[in-house]
Order: sequence, then structure tokens, then C-alpha cells
Amino acid sequence: MQSLYDYDYEQIQCLAESYGWKKFRGHQIFQWLYRNRVDSVDEMTNLSKETREILKRDFMISPLKMIRKQVAHDGTTKFLFALEDGALVESVLMLFDYGKSICVTTQVGCNMGCAFCASGLTKKKRNLTSGEMVAQFMAVQKELDKSGDRLSHVVVMGTGEPFDNYDNVMNFLSTINHDRGLGIGSRHITISTCGIADRIIDFAYEHTQYNLAISLHAPNDQLRSSLMPINKAYPLETLMHALDIYCQENNRRLTFEYILLKGVNDRPEHAAQLARLLKGYNAYVNLIPYNAVDEKGFQGVNHEEAMVFYDQLMKKGIRCTIRKEHGNDIDAACGQLRIKELKRGYEE
Ligand code: SAH
Repeated sequence: MQSLYDYDYEQIQCLAESYGWKKFRGHQIFQWLYRNRVDSVDEMTNLSKETREILKRDFMISPLKMIRKQVAHDGTTKFLFALEDGALVESVLMLFDYGKSICVTTQVGCNMGCAFCASGLTKKKRNLTSGEMVAQFMAVQKELDKSGDRLSHVVVMGTGEPFDNYDNVMNFLSTINHDRGLGIGSRHITISTCGIADRIIDFAYEHTQYNLAISLHAPNDQLRSSLMPINKAYPLETLMHALDIYCQENNRRLTFEYILLKGVNDRPEHAAQLARLLKGYNAYVNLIPYNAVDEKGFQGVNHEEAMVFYDQLMKKGIRCTIRKEHGNDIDAACGQLRIKELKRGYEE
């Protein structure tokens, strides 16, 4: 059954018209969903009984069910949801000084096959619909509503490759961004991609204000291809060319994510290559502590080792930050909670 969360503001007005209702009914439904955050159509009391009956016949509201919730010492909360077809997805709530952020999953499993990542342990089963992404946001927001809190930021960094599910991701973001509903500011939204250059170019021409983060993780083609198979399809030159177009079209700062893997990409020559690659870009490097994944055999670096790499980059004029770890006493690495559930014998 289709979810009302699948429709962004314009689409829900068209939907209303397709039933022969006034466009304004669509506006009302949107407000009930995202301002009042109702769980059922029956609560939409300014719609006629007949309209509500039709909506109930043809749509559900949330297509997901919360099946597990883990809270870490620092308040980071990981949610495991089951979709209508039984597939599992994770979302993470993170608490920052500047607000509350949700990390959203875009696919069931992932086909990108990055050597270090837990998400790719199972191949992609399917793309999430835009409603299934909106529903992750709404489920977490409804938890926060209990204490009068609100989500202010969104990172599209959960399981899956957002640019391998481009249209649904864009529709999801349009829904949560709309100021007649949740009004999550564009600049508070970050999309992270492993580097699908063609989609980066499409994204460049959309001229949104969403932040773009690139999972780089290696400064040369040989190493990057060994860690991230996508680099064989879109090697660094192609990727950087797409980013040049992005920078020409958008006056926005780029983020490059770089997981420091002990003995793999953390040597001084890697810092030097990285500085050369990124010179001249309006960008900064986010150095990411590695969340060890048993099956993968990589090791992260400690804080001192990360600082050495950080200093080498800063000396070469590359701005960087070291990402603070969140929820490291729960299964916080991408896709770990789902994998654990599958190992316990859960059948999707
Ligand atoms: N597919 C997208 C978004 C999901 S992954 C992408 O590749 O960007 C979000 C970020 O987490 C990526 O930078 C990814 O490389 C990183 N990541 C994956 N596994 C990780 C792990 N075990 N520890 C730390 N970061 C990880």
C-alpha cells in the first residue's frame, strides 16, 4: 500500500486534485502529516468523513515499524525499523551542541562494496521509497515530540548509496525541507556519496543548498580502487571533474570524508597526495575514526595518530576536522545493527 509520506508538497496537492478535491485539501493533509504529525487519517478532523474514508482506503501513513532502540551513554540512539516487506533499516539520532541530527538509510543493503564497510556485507535488496525515508525521520521526530524537542539536521549517511537512489532521495529531502511542513533548512541537510560522478553533475545543476560530502578515503587511484570499487567506474580524475562542475554551479563548501585506516591510508605520503588533490577547492577534510567491523579486518588509528595526519594536512593548507565519535558503545557503524539481527536469524 502506498504511504502518504511518498508525496512532497506539490505532489500531495496534485494527488488531491486527482481525486477531484480542491488543491487546498492537499495542503491540509500535508500540515496534518508534518505540523500536527498525526498517526492516523481519522485525526485529520477538518477533512470530511468521506475524504478520510477514501484516504484510509488508498493510503497508509507510516510504512515502518520500530523493532529495536538502543541508547548509548552519550545519548546517541540507534533505531531498527522493519519495512512493510519485512526488510530492516537503521536510523541514528545524534545529539550535537548545535542541534539534533538524524542519519537516514536510503537502501536495503548496498552494492558499492567498500572494503571497510558493514553495509555492503549484504547486497542491495532494493531502494527505499521516499516515503520510507520520510518515515524514518518522522518516527524519530515523534519520539522527540514527547519531550518537546525537534530534529534540526539530517545526514544522508546511513546504509546505501543515496546517488544510486537519486530521485527518491531528492523527493524525501524536498518533503522534509518544505516550509509548510517540517522546514528542515537546506543548509542543515548533508548528502554523502561514494562518488557517482554522473549523479554529482546532475546534483550540481539542481542548485539546491544541501551540503555535499564525498567519501574519498584514499588520495590515489590505486589505493582508492582497492578500497572502493566505485573508483574503477569513476576514477579520481572523473570524480574531481564532476566536483569542478559542482563548484562552478554552487557556491558551497565541499566536505571530503576520509576514514583513517591504520597502515593503509594514514602515511605522510598519503597526506601529501591528499593535499595536492584538494588544493584550491573550497573544501575541508573530515577525518573519520574507523568503527571496526569484525568481518573486514581493518584497524582504525588512535587519536594521537589522527592528530599527526591532521597536522600534516593543516601544514599544507588543507582545512580539516576530526569527527567526534558518537555512540561507540552501541553498534554504531553503518549497517551493524541490521547485520546483527540477520545473524540472529531474522529473515527479511
Ligand atoms: N554511500 C554513501 C553514504 C553512506 S556511508 C557514502 O559512501 O558516502 C557514510 C560514511 O560512513 C561514508 O563516508 C562511509 O565511507 C563511512 N563508513 C562506512 N563504514 C564505516 C565504518 N565502519 N567506520 C566509519 N565510517 C564508515
